[in-house]
Amino acid sequence: MRIANLAGRLTLLTPSGAVDVERASAGRFGPNPTAVYAHWAEFTDWAKRAALPDGAAYDESDLGAAVPEPAQIFAIGLNYREHAMESGLDFPVEPPVFTKFRTSLAGPVGDLELPTDTVDWEAELVVVIGRTARNVSAGDAWDHVAGLTIGQDFSERTRQLVPPAPQFSLGKSFPGFSPVGPAVVTLDELADPSDLDLSCSIDGDKVQHSRTSGLIFSIPVLIERLSAVLPLLPGDLIFTGTPSGVGGGRTPKRFLRAGEEIVTRIEGLGELRQKCVPGQPHTTAAAS
Ligand code: ZN
Repeated sequence: MRIANLAGRLTLLTPSGAVDVERASAGRFGPNPTAVYAHWAEFTDWAKRAALPDGAAYDESDLGAAVPEPAQIFAIGLNYREHAMESGLDFPVEPPVFTKFRTSLAGPVGDLELPTDTVDWEAELVVVIGRTARNVSAGDAWDHVAGLTIGQDFSERTRQLVPPAPQFSLGKSFPGFSPVGPAVVTLDELADPSDLDLSCSIDGDKVQHSRTSGLIFSIPVLIERLSAVLPLLPGDLIFTGTPSGVGGGRTPKRFLRAGEEIVTRIEGLGELRQKCVPGQPHTTAAAS
């Protein structure tokens, strides 16, 4: 099952096109693309049995963030070995966690406004929580996952790394810095949800390429470690970290420029496409 947000409405993407859930369920499930995760078991049970109508054609530019109003967004740093090495940092013993504030969420296709000339890319697998998780062991963790989707953890490196204490959450939360989609894909659609090919290209030049089996902290371990501290709630997102190949890790460094198109792909999940455009200029005081 592929669950999307089409023009703000909960939608199933089927081989024949888009099916509006509120209409197909005669109102049993509302149109809110986030609220459905609080009724995940009931919803998947209905979706399995329902005789869905033929889908309608849709414009992909009408797709919004697959989960537009999660209660919490977690993002994990340094979760692939080569990326930790290119960042010049030690391998973590606990997952480094920050947030991407909710107003940075965006749909899977569209413009990315660049507030500075030091915006970087980070292709990431994103986990969507389907059942409240508190003190969940890694062995039980997949039972709490609704599905997987693609995310970009766009990062303004000057703000992110400003001394004396780095500002990961702010530097990664400019508007549009967190596109997610095109759909939440349920685990039954994937041959092995813990080993997916992931890549990022800029104007056709492949800058990142890895497999999600390379995660230092796997999805089950992340759910175990996070839920040991606080509850994970239905609809919450976990950005699981990016592999090597980011612009800030290169010599010389490379950052995004207006006119460039970033395509982020994960096997079985689809792709994101962002076109870089000039944004409202931003200056970090400590760096000016
Ligand atoms: Zn990241």
